[in-house]
Amino acid sequence: MLKQVTNLLIPKAVPRKPVLGHKTYKKFGFVVTLCQSCDCPRCGHYLSAGPNHQCRYCDQCGQRVDCSNVKWEEEIELGYAREDGTYEPIKDRVV
Ligand SMILES: [Zn+2]
Repeated sequence: MLKQVTNLLIPKAVPRKPVLGHKTYKKFGFVVTLCQSCDCPRCGHYLSAGPNHQCRYCDQCGQRVDCSNVKWEEEIELGYAREDGTYEPIKDRVV
């Protein structure tokens, strides 16, 4: 409710901070990696933004997004993906 009111009161052209959280994805298709997620403050759509790339607008609703003050965290490789959705921890490897 409050969120809806905020969305009505603030025009999309006014930059808003993204909603930050965490998510995992499969790096190279098999390494479960924890990284920061960055969502649109208006519609909740996932924004493709990170340390090397920041978007300026949400591509779903057009909300202007200000990522300039985001403290990006380094990705953490959690382990190798298993078929059941869990992962196997990466042991110290000698390269
Ligand atoms: Zn949006």
